Amino acid sequence: MEVYGNIDSFESMGLVDGPGVRFVVFMQGCPLRCAYCHNPETWSNEKKIQITPTELVKKISKYKTYFGEDGGVTFSGGEPLNQPEFLLEALKKCKENNINTCLDTSGFGDNYDEILDYCDLVILDVKELDAERYQKLTGKKIDKFYAFLQKCQEKNVKLWLRQVILPHYNDSKESVLKLKEFASKLKNVEKIELLPYHSMAKEKYKKMGIKYRLEDLEDMNKEKCKTLEKLLK
Ligand code: SF4
Repeated sequence: MEVYGNIDSFESMGLVDGPGVRFVVFMQGCPLRCAYCHNPETWSNEKKIQITPTELVKKISKYKTYFGEDGGVTFSGGEPLNQPEFLLEALKKCKENNINTCLDTSGFGDNYDEILDYCDLVILDVKELDAERYQKLTGKKIDKFYAFLQKCQEKNVKLWLRQVILPHYNDSKESVLKLKEFASKLKNVEKIELLPYHSMAKEKYKKMGIKYRLEDLEDMNKEKCKTLEKLLK
Protein backbone atom coordinates (compact mmCIF):
# COMPACT_ATOMS: atom_id res chain seq x y z
CA MET A 1 0.00 0.00 0.00
CA GLU A 2 1.27 3.45 -0.87
CA VAL A 3 1.97 6.03 1.80
CA TYR A 4 -0.20 9.14 1.71
CA GLY A 5 1.21 12.65 1.72
CA ASN A 6 -0.50 15.45 3.61
CA ILE A 7 -0.50 18.53 1.40
CA ASP A 8 -1.54 22.10 2.12
CA SER A 9 -1.83 23.23 -1.50
CA PHE A 10 -0.42 23.06 -5.03
CA GLU A 11 0.80 25.70 -7.44
CA SER A 12 0.81 24.47 -11.01
CA MET A 13 2.99 27.11 -12.67
CA GLY A 14 5.38 28.44 -10.05
CA LEU A 15 8.18 30.73 -11.22
CA VAL A 16 10.07 31.52 -8.01
CA ASP A 17 10.77 28.15 -6.42
CA GLY A 18 13.63 26.86 -8.52
CA PRO A 19 14.64 27.02 -12.18
CA GLY A 20 12.07 27.32 -14.99
CA VAL A 21 8.34 26.69 -14.65
CA ARG A 22 7.62 24.47 -11.66
CA PHE A 23 4.77 22.53 -10.14
CA VAL A 24 5.05 23.36 -6.45
CA VAL A 25 3.82 21.00 -3.75
CA PHE A 26 3.31 22.85 -0.46
CA MET A 27 3.46 20.14 2.15
CA GLN A 28 1.67 20.36 5.46
CA GLY A 29 3.52 20.41 8.79
CA CYS A 30 6.61 22.22 10.03
CA PRO A 31 8.53 21.85 13.30
CA LEU A 32 10.02 25.36 13.09
CA ARG A 33 8.30 28.60 14.06
CA CYS A 34 10.22 31.24 12.14
CA ALA A 35 9.30 34.73 13.31
CA TYR A 36 8.76 35.88 9.72
CA CYS A 37 6.94 32.78 8.43
CA HIS A 38 4.24 33.75 5.96
CA ASN A 39 2.65 30.30 5.87
CA PRO A 40 1.53 29.63 9.46
CA GLU A 41 -1.36 27.58 8.05
CA THR A 42 1.21 24.91 7.12
CA TRP A 43 2.60 24.49 10.65
CA SER A 44 0.21 21.92 12.11
CA ASN A 45 -0.04 18.26 11.16
CA GLU A 46 -3.81 18.48 10.67
CA LYS A 47 -5.08 16.47 7.71
CA LYS A 48 -5.54 18.52 4.57
CA ILE A 49 -5.14 17.15 1.01
CA GLN A 50 -4.30 13.43 1.11
CA ILE A 51 -2.52 12.09 -1.96
CA THR A 52 -0.34 9.10 -2.89
CA PRO A 53 2.93 9.48 -4.82
CA THR A 54 1.31 7.81 -7.86
CA GLU A 55 -1.62 10.24 -7.82
CA LEU A 56 0.73 13.17 -7.35
CA VAL A 57 2.95 12.25 -10.29
CA LYS A 58 -0.13 11.85 -12.47
CA LYS A 59 -1.15 15.39 -11.47
CA ILE A 60 2.32 16.83 -12.09
CA SER A 61 2.65 15.07 -15.45
CA LYS A 62 -0.23 17.11 -16.87
CA TYR A 63 2.08 20.13 -16.76
CA LYS A 64 5.15 18.45 -18.22
CA THR A 65 4.91 20.33 -21.52
CA TYR A 66 5.35 23.63 -19.65
CA PHE A 67 8.49 22.53 -17.83
CA GLY A 68 10.82 22.83 -20.84
CA GLU A 69 14.46 22.05 -20.15
CA ASP A 70 14.78 23.59 -16.67
CA GLY A 71 11.38 23.23 -15.01
CA GLY A 72 9.93 20.43 -12.95
CA VAL A 73 8.55 19.86 -9.48
CA THR A 74 9.48 21.61 -6.23
CA PHE A 75 8.56 20.16 -2.84
CA SER A 76 8.10 23.04 -0.43
CA GLY A 77 6.01 23.75 2.60
CA GLY A 78 5.74 23.75 5.50
CA GLU A 79 8.75 21.52 5.79
CA PRO A 80 8.83 18.66 3.25
CA LEU A 81 11.33 16.69 5.38
CA ASN A 82 8.56 16.40 7.95
CA GLN A 83 7.03 13.60 5.80
CA PRO A 84 10.14 11.67 4.76
CA GLU A 85 8.48 8.43 3.63
CA PHE A 86 6.04 10.14 1.30
CA LEU A 87 8.69 12.56 0.06
CA LEU A 88 11.09 9.75 -0.82
CA GLU A 89 8.46 7.79 -2.73
CA ALA A 90 7.19 10.88 -4.52
CA LEU A 91 10.73 11.91 -5.55
CA LYS A 92 11.49 8.40 -6.80
CA LYS A 93 8.33 8.36 -8.89
CA CYS A 94 9.15 11.80 -10.33
CA LYS A 95 12.60 10.63 -11.39
CA GLU A 96 11.12 7.46 -12.93
CA ASN A 97 8.97 9.81 -15.00
CA ASN A 98 11.86 12.08 -15.99
CA ILE A 99 10.63 15.02 -13.93
CA ASN A 100 13.29 17.37 -12.60
CA THR A 101 13.10 17.55 -8.79
CA CYS A 102 13.84 20.32 -6.34
CA LEU A 103 13.56 20.30 -2.55
CA ASP A 104 12.90 23.64 -0.88
CA THR A 105 13.78 23.10 2.78
CA SER A 106 15.08 24.52 6.02
CA GLY A 107 17.11 21.32 6.41
CA PHE A 108 15.27 20.53 9.61
CA GLY A 109 14.69 16.80 9.34
CA ASP A 110 16.10 13.39 10.17
CA ASN A 111 15.66 10.70 7.52
CA TYR A 112 16.87 12.42 4.37
CA ASP A 113 19.87 10.34 3.36
CA GLU A 114 18.11 8.55 0.49
CA ILE A 115 15.88 11.52 -0.24
CA LEU A 116 18.91 13.54 -1.33
CA ASP A 117 19.76 10.90 -3.95
CA TYR A 118 16.60 11.87 -5.83
CA CYS A 119 16.93 15.68 -5.62
CA ASP A 120 18.33 17.47 -8.66
CA LEU A 121 18.53 20.65 -6.61
CA VAL A 122 18.14 21.64 -2.97
CA ILE A 123 17.07 25.18 -2.13
CA LEU A 124 18.30 25.57 1.42
CA ASP A 125 16.88 28.27 3.62
CA VAL A 126 19.75 29.68 5.67
CA LYS A 127 17.76 31.11 8.54
CA GLU A 128 20.81 32.06 10.55
CA LEU A 129 24.42 30.98 10.93
CA ASP A 130 24.67 31.78 14.61
CA ALA A 131 23.27 29.15 16.99
CA GLU A 132 21.73 31.52 19.51
CA ARG A 133 20.11 33.76 16.91
CA TYR A 134 18.85 30.70 15.02
CA GLN A 135 17.07 29.45 18.10
CA LYS A 136 15.52 32.83 18.78
CA LEU A 137 14.32 33.13 15.19
CA THR A 138 13.02 29.59 14.66
CA GLY A 139 12.41 28.18 18.14
CA LYS A 140 14.73 25.21 17.51
CA LYS A 141 18.44 24.36 17.79
CA ILE A 142 20.65 24.88 14.75
CA ASP A 143 22.33 21.42 14.79
CA LYS A 144 19.94 19.80 12.31
CA PHE A 145 20.57 22.54 9.78
CA TYR A 146 24.32 21.96 9.86
CA ALA A 147 23.90 18.17 9.79
CA PHE A 148 21.68 18.45 6.70
CA LEU A 149 24.13 20.77 4.98
CA GLN A 150 26.96 18.36 5.75
CA LYS A 151 25.02 15.50 4.14
CA CYS A 152 24.35 17.62 1.05
CA GLN A 153 28.08 18.22 0.79
CA GLU A 154 28.92 14.53 1.15
CA LYS A 155 26.45 13.69 -1.57
CA ASN A 156 27.50 16.54 -3.88
CA VAL A 157 23.97 17.89 -4.09
CA LYS A 158 23.54 21.07 -6.11
CA LEU A 159 22.53 23.92 -3.80
CA TRP A 160 20.81 27.26 -3.94
CA LEU A 161 21.03 29.14 -0.66
CA ARG A 162 18.32 31.54 0.42
CA GLN A 163 18.08 34.00 3.26
CA VAL A 164 15.26 36.29 4.30
CA ILE A 165 16.60 39.77 4.98
CA LEU A 166 15.00 41.67 7.83
CA PRO A 167 15.50 45.37 8.57
CA HIS A 168 17.81 46.10 11.54
CA TYR A 169 18.52 42.38 11.90
CA ASN A 170 20.62 41.02 9.05
CA ASP A 171 20.45 43.84 6.49
CA SER A 172 24.03 45.01 7.01
CA LYS A 173 26.92 44.63 4.59
CA GLU A 174 28.81 42.67 7.26
CA SER A 175 26.01 40.17 7.67
CA VAL A 176 25.72 39.54 3.92
CA LEU A 177 29.49 39.25 3.53
CA LYS A 178 29.47 36.68 6.33
CA LEU A 179 26.93 34.66 4.38
CA LYS A 180 29.09 35.02 1.27
CA GLU A 181 32.15 33.77 3.13
CA PHE A 182 30.19 30.85 4.54
CA ALA A 183 28.93 29.91 1.06
CA SER A 184 32.42 30.19 -0.44
CA LYS A 185 33.54 27.27 1.72
CA LEU A 186 30.79 25.02 0.40
CA LYS A 187 30.77 22.86 -2.72
CA ASN A 188 28.09 23.05 -5.39
CA VAL A 189 26.51 26.37 -4.44
CA GLU A 190 25.04 27.59 -7.70
CA LYS A 191 23.20 30.61 -6.42
CA ILE A 192 22.51 32.70 -3.31
CA GLU A 193 19.25 34.62 -3.07
CA LEU A 194 18.27 37.29 -0.57
CA LEU A 195 14.53 37.60 0.00
CA PRO A 196 13.23 40.91 1.37
CA TYR A 197 11.06 40.45 4.46
CA HIS A 198 7.43 41.50 4.07
CA SER A 199 4.65 41.59 6.61
CA MET A 200 1.78 40.49 4.35
CA ALA A 201 1.02 37.47 6.53
CA LYS A 202 0.07 39.63 9.54
CA GLU A 203 -3.64 39.32 8.80
CA LYS A 204 -3.40 35.53 8.55
CA TYR A 205 -1.88 35.44 12.04
CA LYS A 206 -4.66 37.63 13.38
CA LYS A 207 -7.33 35.38 11.86
CA MET A 208 -5.62 32.27 13.22
CA GLY A 209 -5.24 33.84 16.67
CA ILE A 210 -1.44 33.52 16.65
CA LYS A 211 0.74 36.29 17.98
CA TYR A 212 2.82 37.91 15.22
CA ARG A 213 6.26 38.40 16.71
CA LEU A 214 7.41 41.08 14.27
CA GLU A 215 4.38 43.34 14.75
CA ASP A 216 6.39 46.57 14.73
CA LEU A 217 8.90 45.70 12.05
CA GLU A 218 8.62 47.50 8.72
CA ASP A 219 9.02 45.66 5.38
CA MET A 220 12.52 45.31 4.02
CA ASN A 221 13.29 47.86 1.32
CA LYS A 222 13.47 45.85 -1.91
CA GLU A 223 16.05 48.10 -3.55
CA LYS A 224 18.34 47.87 -0.54
CA CYS A 225 17.96 44.11 -0.63
CA LYS A 226 18.94 44.06 -4.31
CA THR A 227 21.99 46.19 -3.54
CA LEU A 228 22.99 43.79 -0.79
CA GLU A 229 22.54 40.88 -3.18
CA LYS A 230 25.11 42.44 -5.48
CA LEU A 231 27.71 41.93 -2.74
CA LEU A 232 27.30 38.21 -3.28
CA LYS A 233 28.38 38.29 -6.90
S1 SF4 B 1 10.57 26.65 7.99
FE1 SF4 B 1 9.27 27.69 6.51
S2 SF4 B 1 7.21 26.96 6.93
FE2 SF4 B 1 8.45 26.43 8.70
S3 SF4 B 1 8.14 28.11 10.11
FE3 SF4 B 1 9.98 28.56 8.94
S4 SF4 B 1 9.31 29.81 7.22
FE4 SF4 B 1 7.48 28.82 8.10
